[in-house]
Amino acid sequence: MSDFSSYKFGTRAIHAGAEPDPSTGAVMTPIFQTSTFVQEYPGKHKGYAYARGKNPTREALQKNIAALENGKHCLCFSSGMGAVDAVIKLLRPNDEVITGDDLYGGSYRMFTKVFANYGIKFHFVDMTKASNIEKYINSNTKLIWAETPTNPTMQIIDIEACAKIAKQHKLILAVDNTFASPYLQNPLSLGADIVMHSVTKYLGGHSDVIMGALITNDDKLHEQLAFIHNSCGATPGPMDSFLVMRGIKTLHLRMERHCFNGKKIADYLKSHPKIEKVYYPGFPEHPNHNIAKKQMRDFGGMISIVLKDKSIDTTFKVASSFKVFSLAESLGGVESLINHPATMTHASIPKEEREKAGVVDNLLRLSVGVEDVEDLLEDLKQALG
Ligand SMILES: *Cc1c(COP(=O)(O)O)cnc(C)c1O
Repeated sequence: MSDFSSYKFGTRAIHAGAEPDPSTGAVMTPIFQTSTFVQEYPGKHKGYAYARGKNPTREALQKNIAALENGKHCLCFSSGMGAVDAVIKLLRPNDEVITGDDLYGGSYRMFTKVFANYGIKFHFVDMTKASNIEKYINSNTKLIWAETPTNPTMQIIDIEACAKIAKQHKLILAVDNTFASPYLQNPLSLGADIVMHSVTKYLGGHSDVIMGALITNDDKLHEQLAFIHNSCGATPGPMDSFLVMRGIKTLHLRMERHCFNGKKIADYLKSHPKIEKVYYPGFPEHPNHNIAKKQMRDFGGMISIVLKDKSIDTTFKVASSFKVFSLAESLGGVESLINHPATMTHASIPKEEREKAGVVDNLLRLSVGVEDVEDLLEDLKQALG
């Protein structure tokens, strides 16, 4: 196995984990569409026994994603939520978790509606100030779950500061790195213990696969997570693994364009008369801009806007008037999407909680794709007009 760890990001994206197939020389890792592997005699096989545990296509992808996050181990899951689920299953009843107050709706739902019933306690705090985290630490605290940039208000959480607190109190720090992608931000290098991705988004990049991933450098954590992975069974199939490997080969190219288009569009929206507010960490006046600059390579293609007109009817009308942007949940694909968090991605969060976090009815979230930016700007102009 060639080691690509000393190469730059784009080279790793294309080559890490992708060894030519030894039996045929195929340059692309084949789709090993099999559930089981023959054994010479009981227990003697070529390293693969049953595909829930290990499949060569998935394994190649896992090596690739590990290399992109400067990690030693990666496990891929059948969805991002499957990956989150495995992390929380490291815990026991009465354990406590400190997490952000602006969280992916599905994570919030899993924490409050599933794991709260198993006796795990979650504190939702404003993590943009590290001192807020320390207030909630007690002898039952086991995990800090950070999502940065946050969804959809683009808050930035200081990963290094969280890691310092986690180390000091012997807590696990897990970071949901979905919005940044490994191209923009590598939490393990900033001191995090686990990185989680909804691979569905930028890593897959083509809106055709649901998948999740966990990356770690900690052998013991990896062993525990791999046990949960195989025991609970949220593992992805080989076809999806192949599609994501194919998608990742252009991750660095796509991210460059997402960032370029994002910047142009954020600047345009900032001076638009019908817009009250633009959430984009690339603005110098963004409250956590300096942290974003410190821990991210660039500012990405995710932007949220608040319309001056507060009525939900106007917001719905704008959201349905686009020709290039598609009105849909999700993000991170090559195509531009627009989403109404209050009724779509964040509908599972009670209105009061939601509005406290800034997710008001007149907020729209853009996932800026990699189309020609002039066409995207024209589309925004006509839809807002
Ligand atoms: C989409 C998303 C998830 C969940 O991932 P799925 O692949 O949809 O299960 C988790 N966190 C964030 C930030 C996301 O955007």
